[in-house]
Amino acid sequence: MSGAIVVRARRVVLPDGERAAAVHVRDGVIEAVTGFDEAGDRPVTLAADEVLLPGLVDSHVHVNEPGRTEWEGFASATRAAAAGGVTTIVDMPLNSVPPTVNAKALQVKRQAAQGQLSVDVAFWGGAVPGNASQLQRLLAAGAVGVKCFLLDSGVPEFPPLDDAGLRAALTALAEVDGLLIAHCEDDDVIAAAPDPGGPRYADFLASRPGAAEETAIGRLIAAARDTGARVHVVHLADAGALPMLRAARAEGVRITVETCPHYLTFSAEEVPDGATSFKCCPPIREAVHREALWAALADGDIDLVVSDHSPCTPELKRLDVGDFASAWGGIAGLQVTLPVVWTGARARGLSLGDVVRWMSAAPAALTGLTGKGGIAVGKDADLVAFAPDERSTVGELHHRNPVTPYTGRELTGVVRRAWLHGEELVDGNAPRGRLLSRGRA
Ligand SMILES: [Zn+2]
Repeated sequence: MSGAIVVRARRVVLPDGERAAAVHVRDGVIEAVTGFDEAGDRPVTLAADEVLLPGLVDSHVHVNEPGRTEWEGFASATRAAAAGGVTTIVDMPLNSVPPTVNAKALQVKRQAAQGQLSVDVAFWGGAVPGNASQLQRLLAAGAVGVKCFLLDSGVPEFPPLDDAGLRAALTALAEVDGLLIAHCEDDDVIAAAPDPGGPRYADFLASRPGAAEETAIGRLIAAARDTGARVHVVHLADAGALPMLRAARAEGVRITVETCPHYLTFSAEEVPDGATSFKCCPPIREAVHREALWAALADGDIDLVVSDHSPCTPELKRLDVGDFASAWGGIAGLQVTLPVVWTGARARGLSLGDVVRWMSAAPAALTGLTGKGGIAVGKDADLVAFAPDERSTVGELHHRNPVTPYTGRELTGVVRRAWLHGEELVDGNAPRGRLLSRGRA
């Protein structure tokens, strides 16, 4: 336990706005938020150019351990998160072996993570064909919700749900108000599209059209409407789906949606041919989509921004041949998510309060991690000192594998310090992150 500390700053992003404040912490929890001058004897005072933010919650991270630990792992992923101001990550149920499709597999994951965590970690379960009867038990065991794919996931041990399987999963989840998050692309639309072969980015993009996202999201909306369950669309890339999402919400369908830093930063027009570090699914689309995603964030039509950190080894990215068909689809970006999103937000006149809403409050609310997501009395003292005007260039990161399309990118905003449960995170110190469970934040 950390005893008592006070952290104060001239700019603190609080749930109701930004102002000078002192954050009083006792035993890792925020005990009070007072005026800047009511900070007691020995406060930690941030530098004049630093803003105090709540730690970010990244609800979309593929840690891949155990089973594919050479792609990433709990030690390296959480170290990268800590350096990036992300104090909570939620691990995806696939790409690790076993996939997290029952309570026993969740236990295996927790054991693998134990003792390695620089930040707090929670877990998604997985919905696959035939495991609907397991889902309530997965939630009871602590998973924050379950993920499914509506088309091939890329790994054989995590097959997709068809519409009957989707409805079976949602029916089971609705009984306990559980959440299903879905990778929304449609197999039939993609099968009818051109093949992706070769190094041309335009060919890869044409092989996974926006209509594939729209068709799958339509399937998800219909199933959510019929079952009353809560659903969430992961990594929206296609702005063409926004009107149907808006309409579904307007009629009362319980659906939320996220997008990712890479869809908000890059555009198809600027991806060099052969540059498979940019390959992800759904793909980075044209600039017109990027700008529409920003507008939807500003309007509240997109709820959150999370990394979808999904690395692999350099060999699997096929950088040697630059072939978009055979390269692994996934972008590594966990450590740079905050400055990347802030750089884009700032350029469009959006505020740090907006960024905190998308990247801390909303993901905490989605996952039911009630102790996270804001600087407020009773929440965990997970804090970040962020210098929003300092510029940097993306160099070496703590990710296990170095490949990322952000290399060399100029960014604005630097994470200077971070605290987890009121204790400052210092690289090289013993890992103190905790395993989190649904409802027991
Ligand atoms: Zn993902």
